[in-house]
Amino acid sequence: MLDPLFTWLLLPLGVALGWALGRRAATTGPVRGFTGEQLGGLLTQLSSDDPDQAIAALTTATEIDPSTAELHLTLGRMFRKRGEVDRALRVHEALVQRAGLAPALRLQARFELAQDYMTAGVMDRAERLFDELVADGAFVVPALEAIRTIHEQARDWPQAIAAARRLQSAKGESQRAAIAQYLCEMAVDARNARRHGDAIRLAREALDEDPDCVRALLLLGELQEAAGDHAAAMRAYLRAFEQDPRFLPDVIEPLQRCAAATGERDRYLLFLRDAKEMSPSSLPYVAEARLLAETGLDPLDHLAQSLEARPSRAVLAEFLEVLERQPNVVAAGLDKPAASLRRALLRLMESTPRYQCSNCGFSPRQMFWQCPGCKRWGTTAPVDDVLRG
Ligand SMILES: [Zn+2]
Repeated sequence: MLDPLFTWLLLPLGVALGWALGRRAATTGPVRGFTGEQLGGLLTQLSSDDPDQAIAALTTATEIDPSTAELHLTLGRMFRKRGEVDRALRVHEALVQRAGLAPALRLQARFELAQDYMTAGVMDRAERLFDELVADGAFVVPALEAIRTIHEQARDWPQAIAAARRLQSAKGESQRAAIAQYLCEMAVDARNARRHGDAIRLAREALDEDPDCVRALLLLGELQEAAGDHAAAMRAYLRAFEQDPRFLPDVIEPLQRCAAATGERDRYLLFLRDAKEMSPSSLPYVAEARLLAETGLDPLDHLAQSLEARPSRAVLAEFLEVLERQPNVVAAGLDKPAASLRRALLRLMESTPRYQCSNCGFSPRQMFWQCPGCKRWGTTAPVDDVLRG
């Protein structure tokens, strides 16, 4: 069977072929070596389930009539999309070399050729071809986008930044959010290489580029906390939460640590109160229950109320853990069933997607700043955990 993509590719190709052959027949008489019967057979093959035979026939048709450059372009694209990059390269190379080709078609062929090399993984060659197109003022935006993708894939962030800046001026559309992400990538690389000062400088640069960059704020908080500057870390974490309350799970524990280190317990309580308003998450309720337990109070009632207000697996697991230790529950022998239930709940929580891309809906269990589904940056965020009936 033909796959749907292939059918869609063949449809315009059949129309183009019919048009090209028809035009030729109108101007120069019958098409050389191609009768109406053969054309009919070819069109039948195009709509049937024998793509290889159809491609062979099309190749012959374009050889018969060398003026059909558009057909060559379509054929080459089709080869590339089918994964036959070698054949795509041959078709497009031949077109680029062809004497007397209209300039617009030659530019199109060069653009196709660059994409062929990119698909084939010959990135330096692809980049050079895209660069030449930009220099000639053709396909500037898609060529610069391709160059940026090439550097992104190679994780060459300074080059990706340079390409994004070129794209920004060519497109007249801000690329600051993407540039901030690249700077964050550089900051993470620096942190992993234990170049702490560089990491902080790069996170700040990311924020200068895009003051709304949650990732840069989280990173700055983490780096400042690691450096022992808890007051600064707290400010960064709070800013991250205010910027996007969906990131509550990433800041709630760090904020508790920083508040403990600076002795600003009241500030943390205030944050939890605000968080209940600003975020639909149940995590502030769990955090409050833990604070009660720390001060020697029984959090069971608070958790029972929380289950009413924000029913979630996290609250339920916390509730069961507290319940297991209640003397009357132990005396009744119900602590073990409660513990089994809690463990099952924790396994369920581990297997539930915790993040979601707002652009394509991809739901991974770990955080990706660049969505693996749609390749967009900064569109993935934690999903809230509240169960809705
Ligand atoms: Zn996505």
